[in-house]
Amino acid sequence: MTYFRTKHKIGLVMKEKIERAIFGIECPKCGHDRLYKLDDDRYKCSNCKFKYSPRKLNDDLQVTLP
Ligand SMILES: [Zn+2]
Repeated sequence: MTYFRTKHKIGLVMKEKIERAIFGIECPKCGHDRLYKLDDDRYKCSNCKFKYSPRKLNDDLQVTLP
């Protein structure tokens, strides 16, 4: 029972992290909270220069957590 609870909690944390990344609140790679929105609707982290598409992250989220 404890195992399942722990697993569920990790899943929730990951979901929140991905959601923050989708809205451009937090970098999914380094956790930095200053992101720039690019012309092609992607976000770029000002700290680690990581670029990502929030739409693709959203698709990944659906696959990971149906
Ligand atoms: Zn970053």
